[in-house]
Amino acid sequence: MHQAYFFDMDGVLLDSMPNHAEAWRIVMQEYGIDFPPRVCYINEGRTGMDIIRWLGDHNNRSFTPDEVQHIYDEKTRVYHELGGGKPLPCIREVLETLQGKAAIWVVTGGGQYDLYEQLEHWFPGIFVREQMVTAHDVTHGKPHPEPYLTAWQRSGFRKEDCCVVENAPLGIKAGKAAGLFTIGVNTGILSRSDLSMAGADRVFNDMREVKKWLAV
Ligand code: MG
Repeated sequence: MHQAYFFDMDGVLLDSMPNHAEAWRIVMQEYGIDFPPRVCYINEGRTGMDIIRWLGDHNNRSFTPDEVQHIYDEKTRVYHELGGGKPLPCIREVLETLQGKAAIWVVTGGGQYDLYEQLEHWFPGIFVREQMVTAHDVTHGKPHPEPYLTAWQRSGFRKEDCCVVENAPLGIKAGKAAGLFTIGVNTGILSRSDLSMAGADRVFNDMREVKKWLAV
């Protein structure tokens, strides 16, 4: 077992990616931009603002700062309207296995101001505000190493004592670029090879396998 675990949120703590992908698809359609689920999952990990700029660049569109903010707000609204996220199967058991034995951090590209309240709602007593790195804490989102480097620096642990838990190729790249042991849990529609090719040190099919691995 490592001494600190840096958990990504969407697709790791919360089964939220289907609704994120659908919300993005609906909102971008209003701008005449096709954003199919696989492309969404491949780009998962970028901050919302980065995704909007990336979509603009790939569709010969440039969005004003007001448009970017409007798209982001709309996407957040539709995501919640669709039902948001709920805990992934077996993630509570994974967190309970670690509780009291290792530091538990959240490192997410999400920037909703009620993220902590959402986590507290789903996982009461597990997370603390001081052990969160969100879109508001970094200049560069994943795949840049900054989010995980920020968590590592704030945590005070040695790099070899930290483990990143990710579901997305760009998140895995961010963890590896930060020089951290990184596991990939394939909870979405991508293939295992998408995660191993991104550099994951270990790839698991689901949280049940992660729990077994932690218990060894
Ligand atoms: Mg994720």
